Amino acid sequence: MKRTRINPISKKRSKELRHRKKLWPNIIVRDGGNCVLCGRGGCSVHEVIQRGASGHKTMLTQCFVEKNMCVLCLACHAKAHNPKTKARILQTLHARHGYDYSEEPWSRYFDEVHTGEEC
Ligand SMILES: [Zn+2]
Repeated sequence: MKRTRINPISKKRSKELRHRKKLWPNIIVRDGGNCVLCGRGGCSVHEVIQRGASGHKTMLTQCFVEKNMCVLCLACHAKAHNPKTKARILQTLHARHGYDYSEEPWSRYFDEVHTGEEC
């Protein structure tokens, strides 16, 4: 059966995207416009834990909160899906801003063993 999609983005989704865009300036100011991992000029705002990532289907709105977002440069963004990189991001944000990551889904990444400066 053929379905015509007039509006490919649902109302709920577009509301979320607007909400996310509203947060961006805050994130960029908070991080000084620089990548939180290497300090170089950042070029994107990244969500540490992605909406709909496996096992996190319930966190549709939690994803777009300041403690889950940070500025990354292109090189670090490419590694940002590695759990160790997520741990480094969360630990860095925690040290700088005191965000609480003791709850799921952040806790599983925050507690990831931190093995030096390999990335
Ligand atoms: Zn970087």
